[in-house]
Amino acid sequence: MATLETAHFRGDDADVLVAASLACPGCLSSDVRWTLDAESFDPSVEVSCDACGHRRRVFLEPMQELRLALHEERPLGQDMRTTPAPGVAL
Ligand SMILES: [Zn+2]
Repeated sequence: MATLETAHFRGDDADVLVAASLACPGCLSSDVRWTLDAESFDPSVEVSCDACGHRRRVFLEPMQELRLALHEERPLGQDMRTTPAPGVAL
């Protein structure tokens, strides 16, 4: 019987938590590649591990899908600073 995996991050989590959610459950490597599948009725991401070759599909909630869509342009972990954007008053 196949099991369905759902992502375990919130839409506003830090990059490291999003990346940790996509890390390989087989070898725990974070060296994974993912492809968002937003065309299906249930959005999901296809994740493949570069370290061991493990592949899996992780299903997403709408906010998780939006978050990963933003990272198609900016890879996860590229900017882990939490400084506000220039011009933003605190
Ligand atoms: Zn792996």
